Amino acid sequence: MYSMEDTQVARTIELNDGTRMPALGLGTWKSSFFPRTSIQGAVETAIAAGYRHIDTAYSYKNEVDIGKALQSKMQQGIIRRQDMFIVSKLWCTYHAPEDIPVCLNKSLNDLQLDYLDLYLVHFPVGLKKVDDELFPKKDGKMLTSDVDYIDVWRGMETLQASGKVKSIGVSNFNILQLERLLALCRVPPAVNQVELHPYLVQTELVEFCKSKNIALTAYSPFGSPARSPKLIREDADPHKLLEDPVVAEIAKKHRHSPAQVLLRYHVQQGVAVIPKSDKPHHILENTKVFEFSLTDEDMRALRGLDRGWKACMLEEVKSHPYYPFV
Ligand code: NAP
Repeated sequence: MYSMEDTQVARTIELNDGTRMPALGLGTWKSSFFPRTSIQGAVETAIAAGYRHIDTAYSYKNEVDIGKALQSKMQQGIIRRQDMFIVSKLWCTYHAPEDIPVCLNKSLNDLQLDYLDLYLVHFPVGLKKVDDELFPKKDGKMLTSDVDYIDVWRGMETLQASGKVKSIGVSNFNILQLERLLALCRVPPAVNQVELHPYLVQTELVEFCKSKNIALTAYSPFGSPARSPKLIREDADPHKLLEDPVVAEIAKKHRHSPAQVLLRYHVQQGVAVIPKSDKPHHILENTKVFEFSLTDEDMRALRGLDRGWKACMLEEVKSHPYYPFV
């Protein structure tokens, strides 16, 4: 399963349904917070730099601009649709069976595509559908739904059978949820996309997924440093992975940057990784992770930084029975 072709940026991981996912992808969450042209430019820059895997989601509200970038590069003859691996995610307000194809169709329409390579259940907890609110609230409290993620998965299986998505997977699922899903599903999830980095090693989850032939994609590989302006103040947030002295030391030894070490850490373990950037120099820097190796000692030192710290918690739904981070 974790065999890799030696083709640099397009190096791939084989999924349990036989398709191949490029090990390095471009993350796009919060890119839409920048000027409108920024995400289109970032995706175009990434494609020119060799990225063939783009990670987006209905909830990122940037799929129209990503669609424009894909169209532009296809029209220029730089890529064909089949060269790209496009991932999107079913948002929590679309968990009801009749809403699942609606969410997919919105993403396909915005991306100007007729199929996705991988479609993920974004989060196991459903939210009530209130107009087009991403995070519906009443009296300051998030409105959750009680749709079972097993029923959501049945909807995902139907989408795959329709041919509109090649592979289906989940995101933010814990071991118990995966075990339950595996016991009841017709099609096992091809991927679990979760937060992974040296401050959140999750050995048990990684080993479990590998043992069940579920590929992993690591999100927030740098600890999502732009997650909130409030949290990146010098005094408020001690979790600065990109500035960690152990990472810096390993980077110096290999004459690479801390970011490259943090990305190499995943691809060396057969885990795909999707760093977000909208800066051309970072987008390019982040491709240079297949040209060096970390030693066993480096990997041990990085794993030794584990502190069980998560950047992405969605704490407002933590009392829900399907909340995954307990
Ligand atoms: P991340 O990739 O850990 O960090 C992104 C930040 O790192 C940006 O501020 C970026 O700034 C900076 N950066 C990028 N390359 C750099 C480099 N070479 N040197 C220094 N800084 C660099 O954070 P993330 O966006 O949370 O996670 C990545 C992707 O994972 C997301 O974009 C999204 O696609 C996915 N994700 C999925 C979920 C889920 O629930 N499934 C949750 C979170 C994230 P610049 O833009 O200025 O370069």
